[in-house]
Amino acid sequence: VSTTGKPDIPREKSAELYEKSKKYFPGGVNSPVRAFKSVFGTPLFIERGDGCYVWDADGNQFIDFCGSWGPLILGHNHPKIKEKVSEVMQQGMSFGAPTALENELAELILKSNSLIEKIRFVSSGTEAVMSAIRLARGYTKRDKILKFEGCYHGHVDSLLVKAGSGLVTFGETSSAGVPKSFADETIVIPLNDRTAVEEAFKQFPDQIAAIIIEGVPANNGLLIQDKEFVQFLRDITQQKGSLLIFDEVITGFRLGFEGAAKHYGIKPDILTYGKIIGGGLPVGMYGASAEIMSNVSPDGAVYQAGTLSGNPVAMAAGIAQLTELLRSGFYKDLNNKTQEFVESIQRFTAAKNYKFKVFSIGSIFWFAFTDKDIKTAEDIDASSMEKFKVFHRELLNRGIYLGPSGYEVGFVSAAHNKTELEKTKRAIFDSLDIVFR
Ligand code: PLP
Repeated sequence: VSTTGKPDIPREKSAELYEKSKKYFPGGVNSPVRAFKSVFGTPLFIERGDGCYVWDADGNQFIDFCGSWGPLILGHNHPKIKEKVSEVMQQGMSFGAPTALENELAELILKSNSLIEKIRFVSSGTEAVMSAIRLARGYTKRDKILKFEGCYHGHVDSLLVKAGSGLVTFGETSSAGVPKSFADETIVIPLNDRTAVEEAFKQFPDQIAAIIIEGVPANNGLLIQDKEFVQFLRDITQQKGSLLIFDEVITGFRLGFEGAAKHYGIKPDILTYGKIIGGGLPVGMYGASAEIMSNVSPDGAVYQAGTLSGNPVAMAAGIAQLTELLRSGFYKDLNNKTQEFVESIQRFTAAKNYKFKVFSIGSIFWFAFTDKDIKTAEDIDASSMEKFKVFHRELLNRGIYLGPSGYEVGFVSAAHNKTELEKTKRAIFDSLDIVFR
């Protein structure tokens, strides 16, 4: 219970719903972070959203910076998306056969993306990554995957692996139920560490199918990598006959239409997407050159399929959302707005000498209770998350909704306007004053 600042928001209805949901779902939720384990109080059950606002079951209104964990770059309930989805829904929900809508979305994407020539739609980011890994293995005829500590790629078995002891070792599973033999195919090393990458290629010559990295690692804080490091990954994979996979499930269509790859000016071999591409409905995608994609079934020997892949209603939402993103100046406005927001928070915390930093890129931001530059998972001080807990509660009490974990990034959407960003800043300033009291 807040003993400072504003009174806690009412949560009776959410708490009641949570009691019920605990009977139905492990932890009362259908995805773990939603259970509010890392912050105060019971999870808020959301009833509706509009623009940059959400309302919970108790009628509390929040300015939302979670945006369904990234997909809602235009905000909630966007009229153009609703209109297109409603129109397409009138024709039926799913056919399991090709539709013109898949062509339409593919054309929209490929016309404005110079990194990929052919794509495959799937239904989630996890599925996109899982398929990309299989494709990389099938294409290179190698088994090992190199990933980085602090990058999340969905709940793919072979990527639920954390670093073992030692600079370059086989990973250890980070979830029960993942066979050790799977983890043995995954090498996990720190971000921003060239020596570890070189060492991995030395220890496992001709065995590494691919290096996978998030376009910008944004699932364990925001761990922005230098261009030189990313370029190094491009160069070494090329030299060693491995592929470079950019997981752009968060950064794709977020940093710009062509995501982090374009931002760095680097062309990975395979790219994975999700979130924004579905406009809030379940869509994922992976893509590569026509040559690499020719290995995917039915053209090639790498099997991959899906009952609801390319679902027409989901395609409709994607078409409507991506059409808006292609409007001239869209990303410039969104990114400038975010930068101004972030800079004024930083001016405030610098003036007050608070140990607090905002890391940001494009319209992604991460609040960290630190005064250090953070580039790797190891750089994050876990004890600082206690401060985040208080911050999160104080922000909720002031009508601001952030994802319920200090390791999660926030997103500014096109629907956040000046008034809401000003209100958010004031709430942040007041909340930080309480955290650092
Ligand atoms: N890859 C990245 C970079 C992600 O951030 C996520 C989800 O947050 C995934 C993959 C998995 O996507 P999904 O949750 O849609 O399965």
